[in-house]
Amino acid sequence: MEYLSTRGAAPLLDFESVTLAGLAPDGGLYVPDHWPALSREAIRDLAGLDYVETAVRICAPFVGDALTETELRDLLRTAYASFAHAAVVPLKQLDERHWLLELFHGPTLAFKDVAMQALGLLFETFLSRRTEHLTIVGATSGDTGSAAIAALAGRAHLDVFMLHPAGRVSDVQRRQMTTVQSPNIFNIAVEGNFDDCQALVKAMFNDPAFAGRYRLAAVNSINWARLMLQVVYYFYAAVRLGAPERSVSFSVPTGNFGDVFAGYVAARMGLPIGRLIVATNVNDILHRALSAGDYSVGSVSATAAPSMDIQVSSNFERLLFDLYGRDGAATAAAMAGFETTRGLALTPTMRGDAAALLVSARIDPDDMAAALRWAMAECGELVDPHTAIGLAAAQGADVAGPIVTLATAHPAKFRDAVERASGHRPGLPARVAGLFDRAERYATLPADLAAIETYIAERATPVHAPAAAA
Ligand SMILES: *Cc1c(COP(=O)(O)O)cnc(C)c1O
Repeated sequence: MEYLSTRGAAPLLDFESVTLAGLAPDGGLYVPDHWPALSREAIRDLAGLDYVETAVRICAPFVGDALTETELRDLLRTAYASFAHAAVVPLKQLDERHWLLELFHGPTLAFKDVAMQALGLLFETFLSRRTEHLTIVGATSGDTGSAAIAALAGRAHLDVFMLHPAGRVSDVQRRQMTTVQSPNIFNIAVEGNFDDCQALVKAMFNDPAFAGRYRLAAVNSINWARLMLQVVYYFYAAVRLGAPERSVSFSVPTGNFGDVFAGYVAARMGLPIGRLIVATNVNDILHRALSAGDYSVGSVSATAAPSMDIQVSSNFERLLFDLYGRDGAATAAAMAGFETTRGLALTPTMRGDAAALLVSARIDPDDMAAALRWAMAECGELVDPHTAIGLAAAQGADVAGPIVTLATAHPAKFRDAVERASGHRPGLPARVAGLFDRAERYATLPADLAAIETYIAERATPVHAPAAAA
């Protein structure tokens, strides 16, 4: 398997290189050169496999010979040993039609641990082979940062600089990042919103002198390996509900379009998914794009579901690339136009192609709160605001068959918002006990590229000239 850029003008990479890369040098995102297909028999054979074995089967074609099957299995087993539930991602039935896939049993209480715990080990494995040092720069609306820091703190060969929007992450999210005292972890509170943080990270990757000097790498969902690791749970859940004999729909609380793109990949690989429901909050660019072809940037409103307070969803480019018939030049032209005008129109054909699988819904705060109260009153389940948005979209969706809503965060991670909506205050699980007793460490900087690059340059490890005898 080789990886190519959505903008068609970057060299092909293998899995190891794509894992360590950020944006492609042409500004695009890496995608596999084809979608590997799983036959119905291969999907049927997943029944009864545990999460790690399922992951080995799904990841193997993407990993190629970067890892042996035994190395891959050992790595995944180590990654998921840190999860608090033996099933890793338990599937819970709410009523006749609705299910929750609980993706929040990892160390930082959000689904991002599922990919990040394994990605940390992939980094360590590949970097120790190469004796290279990486500087990870990332933007987070809260959950990516905490998951990345939990996965990468104290690991050799890398430093992490994580940008979050000052004052716009929950107290649990911020403390999960800022109370980690490892010397390779640096948190930066940016005076701006998440899109500003993401734009700053993109600008650093697009500054070749800076990116080369510090060998920047990404842990945001522009990193292909993360998406690959998320494809696994779509198979795991659907097989438990009768795939490939029965098709299953998924409702996905969506921000950067990474999680739902992983579902798209699962469908491309042959998993019979009825519909993928793209659930947005009032920051609804994806809903406008899918329902009306209007992918144009609005202003970001802060909501109770901060991980979805996003206008520019990086991974949407990966879908566009397929909708343009995998034509890199066409995607590059469209994205250049988007970067200039802050808008892009999907043609009726593209919308039709997308609609065969993807539907969308925009959930406002009242509908979110109603879904949260419904889950508690009718099913005895306290869900977080992101999950409630997914549930509200699932309840309103015109699809047949079972619908699995991805439960993307533990309610305790957003306990103030959960309490406001439901009157119930979730307790913090034991694995994050002590969070409020530890000291915080972070810098606050303006949303200014030069200021951020200077801060990083003073702390990061530049790439050394190769040692003469090495
Ligand atoms: C990151 C996140 C999302 C959005 O996922 P994307 O892959 O960015 O679409 C939704 N809910 C929670 C809790 C998250 O942390």
